[in-house]
Amino acid sequence: SDLMSAQATPNSEKLYARAREVMPGGNTRTTVYRKPHQIYAWRGDGCRITDVDGHIRIDALGNFTSLIHGYGNRQILEAATRQLEAGTCFGMPTESEIRLSEILCERLPSVEQLRYTNSGTEAVMNAIKAARAYTGRPKIAKCEGAYHGTYDPAETSQDASPATWGDIDRPGSVPTAKGTPQGVLDDVVVIPFNNTPVAEAILRASGNSLAAVLVDVMPNRAGLVPAKSEYLAMLRRVTRELGALLILDEVITFRLGYNGAQSRFDIDPDLTTLGKIIGGGFAIGAIGGRAEVMSVFDPSKGQPAVPHGGTFSANPMSMSAGIAALEELTPPAFEKLEVLGDRFDQGIRACFARHGIKGQVTGLGSLRRVHLTDAPLSDYRSTFASADGAARVSALAKALFDEGVIIAGNGLMAFSTAMEDPDIDDIVRAFDRALPE
Ligand code: PLP
Repeated sequence: SDLMSAQATPNSEKLYARAREVMPGGNTRTTVYRKPHQIYAWRGDGCRITDVDGHIRIDALGNFTSLIHGYGNRQILEAATRQLEAGTCFGMPTESEIRLSEILCERLPSVEQLRYTNSGTEAVMNAIKAARAYTGRPKIAKCEGAYHGTYDPAETSQDASPATWGDIDRPGSVPTAKGTPQGVLDDVVVIPFNNTPVAEAILRASGNSLAAVLVDVMPNRAGLVPAKSEYLAMLRRVTRELGALLILDEVITFRLGYNGAQSRFDIDPDLTTLGKIIGGGFAIGAIGGRAEVMSVFDPSKGQPAVPHGGTFSANPMSMSAGIAALEELTPPAFEKLEVLGDRFDQGIRACFARHGIKGQVTGLGSLRRVHLTDAPLSDYRSTFASADGAARVSALAKALFDEGVIIAGNGLMAFSTAMEDPDIDDIVRAFDRALPE
């Protein structure tokens, strides 16, 4: 392919030098996330990235989980190109926005209407605003350790919530340099993930001040362990009894099934937040739900509508690329992702056994996470209590990077339909070389 014959210009040192001038501490993403590995990508092709120095690596993290068809997918490329050629007009309605919504409404059983934002963070913030507006109540419950986006509570207004701020309940995390406005924090209720009786008692104690419970069925930060069905059933039952809403954060987990994680986990939320892959690699976020709740965004309903859109919301690039991505995401594509995920799971378990390592793999389908600890991962505290395991995984991610495979510093991976069995085998072989004897 032209990727193999083309030459990257070896210039990462020059780029680092320029970044030190205008963005000391690293580029936006590397500063924020302090990843163990930082590359300047030159180009991506399928599941592989070539950096500016010509090194080729498998991206086992799917462009930070935002791509499910790999780089340079032909259909997405053509859809985006058609859109660019047609012009990209912001702030005007487009047919592509309607079409993307139709596809998502068709697939997600609980979603009848959608509104778009530019990121998953904004989708969650707006779902929280919608829940507060709909119920007239302040409190939002979230699961301990779950990440719902970057949002600094010190910057918060009465409309927003630090529930989106992933580190807020992370043991040892420092609130913010500016301090944390306690009044706002009081509006966030933290419930233990997968601990049904304790979570239920905490929710009931919030009674009629609870606006919503925000939940991700397989929170990555909290270990990528699937929610128990009795836990999700309790959240649904108790929110209904208390007159609160259930918000399902599917920003990552939408990639778990043709009809979303909500079908796979048999949960019926009032609002759903989406992002990442639904934009085909372009910036996107979405809030969906049944008409009655979504009416808070509708200015024709009489009440002041919850403000949510911005210049780039529902931008035509994301809409048209998203349509192409979802059209490619057929039931057979999901079957393939399950097979790839299971192949990795089996390969890595055998690899752990060969090395005599007490490791674990969590996750489902195309989302998997590697842990280098045998501590039980059933709750957030034990996951992060094992700081030792976390440090070993971060060192492993660095070693894998040197072996040509990119995973997240916490061990997260997101496979793509651009991968085949031999790519998974390459990843497992890289683990074999990177793991200590
Ligand atoms: N919610 C979940 C579950 C996420 O994993 C993320 C991002 O990783 C977000 C929300 C925030 O999305 P974004 O990074 O697009 O703001």
